[in-house]
Amino acid sequence: MELIVVGAGPGDPELVTLKAIKALERADVILYDNLANKVLLDYRKEGCELVYVGKTPYKKYNSQDEINALIKHYADRFEVLVRLKGGDPFVFGRGMEELAFAKSYGMKTSYIPGITSMLGIGLSGIPLTHRGISEGFWVITGTKKDGSLSKDIQLALQSKTTLVIYMGMKNLPFIVEEAVKFGKSNIPAAIIQNASLPNMKMAKGTVVQLPELVKTHGLTHPAIIVIGDVVELAEG
Ligand code: SAH
Repeated sequence: MELIVVGAGPGDPELVTLKAIKALERADVILYDNLANKVLLDYRKEGCELVYVGKTPYKKYNSQDEINALIKHYADRFEVLVRLKGGDPFVFGRGMEELAFAKSYGMKTSYIPGITSMLGIGLSGIPLTHRGISEGFWVITGTKKDGSLSKDIQLALQSKTTLVIYMGMKNLPFIVEEAVKFGKSNIPAAIIQNASLPNMKMAKGTVVQLPELVKTHGLTHPAIIVIGDVVELAEG
């Protein structure tokens, strides 16, 4: 019994690792998420079973307990289980929870990193760091387990480095509110939806303009919010 937790990358199926492909080729069963590109499933061997365990954003389609139950169910029937997750499994991906569960169930476990969706931002022309402009980046979730905004966003807004927010669309009004509170309303900001995919969309302006940009550009999940001067480096 083996569980391999595999990062599927940001969306473009060519942005997956060779190691991930090899794991997909070995799998007896693949449990895949919403954000993992379905094209990757074509690497499966004949007879490999596919199980969709997608979670639609903010609505728990499959709770983690249910996913653990599924892992148990398939581990009893198949030798090699691959859990394919969008981006990287250890970046807001609960990969560790599933590995811990599998381990406690006596399974051999491994993790294959994936390109996290934030790195897809570069494809819209925004670098996360840039000499003389941003000395680093904060990466924070916009939605904690209880749905609220992380207090660390306040800390990040007081720094000069880039702020990257995952899962922030629902709490965008609160993010803007915080930025205003810290005198950062006019700092450059962008929202990138479907990074690395053919339907990628990007809108940029200042932080206070973001809610309006969401409306005019019809932006929705999955999207990443980037706040900081690096946004100005993007053309268009
Ligand atoms: N483990 C994933 C993140 C899962 S949390 C990773 O490493 O990328 C889900 C959040 O990821 C979404 O709310 C969104 O903020 C972000 N996301 C995932 N794929 C994305 C994409 N292609 N473009 C923009 N944001 C994406």
